[in-house]
Amino acid sequence: MTIALPILMLPVATQRYSCHGCGNCCRDFTVQLREADLAKLRAQGWEEKLGMPVTVEFRGTTYLRQRDDGACVFLMDDGLCRIHKDHGFAEKPIACQLFPFVLVPDDVRTHVGISFACQSVRENKGAELRSHLHEVDRMSRGVPETRVATYSAMLADALSAKEGELDALRLALDRFLAREDVVLRDRLDGLAWVAASLGRAKLADVRAKRFAELVTVLVAALPAELEHLPLGPALPKQMRLLRQAVYARLEDVQVNQAKARGRWRTVLGQLLSSRAFTRGRGQVPAVARGLLSGCDFAAIDAVPTLSESPDRDAIDQLLSRYARATLLGNRGWGAGYYGWPAIRGLQALVLNIACTAWLARALAAKRGHAAATIDDVRDALGRIDRHAGRAPWLGSVGERLRLEFFRLDDGLRRITRASI
Ligand code: SF4
Repeated sequence: MTIALPILMLPVATQRYSCHGCGNCCRDFTVQLREADLAKLRAQGWEEKLGMPVTVEFRGTTYLRQRDDGACVFLMDDGLCRIHKDHGFAEKPIACQLFPFVLVPDDVRTHVGISFACQSVRENKGAELRSHLHEVDRMSRGVPETRVATYSAMLADALSAKEGELDALRLALDRFLAREDVVLRDRLDGLAWVAASLGRAKLADVRAKRFAELVTVLVAALPAELEHLPLGPALPKQMRLLRQAVYARLEDVQVNQAKARGRWRTVLGQLLSSRAFTRGRGQVPAVARGLLSGCDFAAIDAVPTLSESPDRDAIDQLLSRYARATLLGNRGWGAGYYGWPAIRGLQALVLNIACTAWLARALAAKRGHAAATIDDVRDALGRIDRHAGRAPWLGSVGERLRLEFFRLDDGLRRITRASI
């Protein structure tokens, strides 16, 4: 008999959560079903009660059916879930029960991370996370693969992590990201610098204790070291690639729509739209069901950076919590991020934050705000974290090439400072 890994709740004491029933996740997510979910739905007799199928098949996977506007078929007018109302919380599909918690095993434990796609998580509303531990433990039995050590952690490509290396990296960065005496811009620039420096280092020669020492030295040099490494503005080709990365994170094809339009028309439409978005001239093309409709790129470029926002303190707290929760919840690499090695995962985290900041400025431009507000940043982060670690295309070769490109000319640092 396999013994389940111990479970570790996200150790970010400043993060809180309780579901406030906003229903946003039911309007937004495509929910993949497991065999046990299908058996429950059949036993509950929904097809007979509603007079229509409640699931849909797409490329060999079964999903909860969505209405034309993307909402789940079980979402009622009052914002509540019909399965929950008629049969109780524990009878919902397991993915719906677990959200926003994310279970990520490593070699020795199952980390409980949290998704910032949830409005209550972004607004930091509710109970202390540890109060959810018992319930998360119960739910995790519905996804038994999350309680076994199936993944061998990697530090970099072809370099397995040695004991203690990833914890050393996580903890050193967490301490730096939590520093209140360093402005957000410098903390995130520092994160980008560490990610880029480790990407260049010959890590095969610096292992175990020496790797922990290297990380300690790098982080201890911050933020002072940044003053000796001045940067010019982001290069036009870097900003083009940043917009392409944002587009990839907003891609939002509904199963219903893809089936109705056909695969090739869907792919061609995305390709044309992605090109126009990347070019970044004139009107923003249609993306994510009108998220940026009516907005033009020049207006986005005119919005000041997040550091110049009157809401910069609240923005600082939100983005710090996000970066720390991603690292400490093991959502930055390994089983939590496409099985990627830690260094590439770290670079992807920086890119996700840069995409959030660009999108927040875009939402501010669309809403006529002179600067990005905390709500603009919350909404942007919700969109970005909805796909991060989940959408298959963000774990693809295309995304890896983007990260390779940002290794040149201080790309990660420049795009970070461009919007933050
Ligand atoms: S988005 Fe979060 S707060 Fe809103 S219904 Fe879903 S879990 Fe609850």
